[in-house]
Amino acid sequence: MSDQTASPGAAFEPPTETARPARLRDLASVSNILATDVAAVLVDRFGRRAATEAIRAVLDEARQAVRLGAGPAPTPDELATGALARLEAHARSDLRPLFNLTGTVLHTNLGRAVLAEAAIEAAVAAMRDPMALEYDLASGRRGERDDHLRALLCELTGAEDATVVNNNAGAVLLALNTLAGGREAIVSRGELIEIGGAFRMPDIMQRAGARLVEVGTTNRTHAKDYRAAVTPETGVILKVHTSNYRIQGFTAEVSAAELAAIAEESHVPLMHDLGSGTLVDLARYGLQREPTVREAVAQGAGIVTFSGDKLLGGPQAGFIVGGKALIAAINRNPMKRALRVDKIRLAAIAATLELYRDPDRLAERLPALRLLARPQAEIAAQARRLAPLVARAVGEAFTVAACDCRSQIGSGALPLDTLASSGLVILSRGGTRALERLAAALRNLDWPVIGRIEAGGLVLDLRCLSDEAVFLSSLSGLDSHALA
Ligand SMILES: *Cc1c(COP(=O)(O)O)cnc(C)c1O
Repeated sequence: MSDQTASPGAAFEPPTETARPARLRDLASVSNILATDVAAVLVDRFGRRAATEAIRAVLDEARQAVRLGAGPAPTPDELATGALARLEAHARSDLRPLFNLTGTVLHTNLGRAVLAEAAIEAAVAAMRDPMALEYDLASGRRGERDDHLRALLCELTGAEDATVVNNNAGAVLLALNTLAGGREAIVSRGELIEIGGAFRMPDIMQRAGARLVEVGTTNRTHAKDYRAAVTPETGVILKVHTSNYRIQGFTAEVSAAELAAIAEESHVPLMHDLGSGTLVDLARYGLQREPTVREAVAQGAGIVTFSGDKLLGGPQAGFIVGGKALIAAINRNPMKRALRVDKIRLAAIAATLELYRDPDRLAERLPALRLLARPQAEIAAQARRLAPLVARAVGEAFTVAACDCRSQIGSGALPLDTLASSGLVILSRGGTRALERLAAALRNLDWPVIGRIEAGGLVLDLRCLSDEAVFLSSLSGLDSHALA
């Protein structure tokens, strides 16, 4: 390996590392690298096999570099450090927690609602030990998975019976298949929604085996349109909450109460897909009013469906509440088994619903509601406090200022109702490329920071920033020189 032992006949090469190109035989062997202190850490953290594979991969790259004339050859320590970085990058999950500073509180792409502590504890407990999931502790006989939620859901919604499935898309699919499989489902042309992620009402209907019967027009649908469409083939009349859009101007729609009357006189059930659905009057927390599930039940819908992780603030789930006979039919559908919820989520759902029994303390216990109801003055004070600290972290190439902005609720809930908020606006002294580089560097942090680029600036809406200390220590991972 060493130049001192080169044979006298070999071409003369100066002994300084920088002056001559590296040769393949200058590279350490795998066993040499494994003998370094860094490799000991590597083996301890990732195991001998993964460590050896990573070292081989790093050595391969080094060989390529040497062939291309790069010099000098890396030392065994450098190669071991390279292998460590490689395994650490691989071990870093893309599902790690991040800061949602997009201004959209219930951001579907960022996992919607964050859960209440009580729900987190219940989920962890359900993971750790066996539980009476389908076992009746009183009788010692087989029990029902739905029993854990039935009474709570009925209490909170006023419905006779209830069940829960994977998500609201599943709830709609299952309910439609049960009520209108092989038959007709009547729905207004103004309510044939697409809500993103490939959920389009006509497609769901087709997959549910129901024949779509559209009535009315995009902007106006009347009671007589529904009445005229009912035939002996009708399985259900469907009302859909137009979650992510509003039809305004010259419009007419038939209220759920009026539709319930039409459904009753026609002897078909009314199904009401509320989308987000809420269990409390949001006006009480300073938010725009949204029809509650209890109201939809009281208006006479036979079946009401709604999501668990939108305004309700729980884990992903789809709730189906309604009359006993209809829920029993839904539970008999074999599709129910394919859409059921696991014990971990069931525990988290039950704990979330429990919080609704005490509406006075709901806003402090349920993060989704707490964030939505957060006063702008509090967020603005946080923005003023953080602006100079963030300015220091991003470096000279950018300016950082507190600003007013508007948050969205997200997940299609109350689409036109934005919330007054505050945040930081970061402007680049070096144009949009530098700003995009900064946004990318923020996304690449151990705790990624996700903002939004708007009108030439990077806006960080601080409504959803709870842990300032973690945020600031995460920002200290930015290399401001590389960003300049
Ligand atoms: C969001 C939504 C759904 C789908 O709910 P997921 O819980 O996302 O599956 C269905 N219908 C309406 C009206 C919605 O807004």
